[in-house]
Amino acid sequence: MPELPEVEALRISLLPLVIGQIIHKVQVLTPKLVSSAGTSRSSCLTKKTQFEEEIKGQTILEIKRRAKNLIFTIENGSQILIHLKMTGQLVYRPNEGHQIVWGGHPIELSHMHLPNKHTHIIFELDRGKLFYNDVRQFGYLLFFPDEQTLLKSGHFDKLGLEPLSDEFNLSTFTEKLKAKKGNLKKMFLDQQVVVGLGNIYTDEVCFVAGVRPTRTVESLKPKEIKKLYETIKTILPEAINDGGSSVANYLLGDGQKGNYTKKHYVYNRGGLKCKVCGSKLVKLNLAGRTTVYCPICQK
Ligand SMILES: [Zn+2]
Repeated sequence: MPELPEVEALRISLLPLVIGQIIHKVQVLTPKLVSSAGTSRSSCLTKKTQFEEEIKGQTILEIKRRAKNLIFTIENGSQILIHLKMTGQLVYRPNEGHQIVWGGHPIELSHMHLPNKHTHIIFELDRGKLFYNDVRQFGYLLFFPDEQTLLKSGHFDKLGLEPLSDEFNLSTFTEKLKAKKGNLKKMFLDQQVVVGLGNIYTDEVCFVAGVRPTRTVESLKPKEIKKLYETIKTILPEAINDGGSSVANYLLGDGQKGNYTKKHYVYNRGGLKCKVCGSKLVKLNLAGRTTVYCPICQK
């Protein structure tokens, strides 16, 4: 699943390409993706029609992000909330030139041939097309007539602090942590203290902070909380700068991928040698996810 750096990197790369463009046509090929969120969903034709009709003819004004959600604001004030979930992918292809930009799930098939069997929604813009592809179809794109309705929808209610914003500081982080119990991995994954860290960045943050993901929140010393806070503040912008771990500005035929993958200390490195001390990295299952840490560098 894309995590905050991948979604933010995608947002940043889409901004100069789509802002100011008019959406001339919207084709919803799979209505259930615009009908509701959640694992079991049925198609709603009213929602499909609303999605296609209300957006049509409007200019894209802004793309914001809250946690792993992208929020498109269009001219009439409407909001389109996009969550890529496990296998969602947004691909922008200009009408002229070869440079396509994509982000989300890295599947060659889906961005090389467009539209393809995994394409579910197509936005036709002035100078190009924006495709939403999703192999497993867990993602969703929801239409809200205005920002108020979106905020009232409860979609963001359980979300914690936004790590790139000013509201995320050592005291708000510490305060939120005090309300939690259990291991660090679970705490980060449930998004209620701070948002945007999934399996990759939880393990990376814990490594750099020198704290094992198996540690309980209650056992953390103030200096460890400070280290975790500082690490989040450092690692996320660095990962965004590198294009995240699965996102890239994709130049056809170039094959370049998100560069942050090369910098991973522990993620996907179970059983290999620690890049810092050379010890064998421990791999275990924690909070239902594969977790890797160094038994020497992390306490
Ligand atoms: Zn080590």
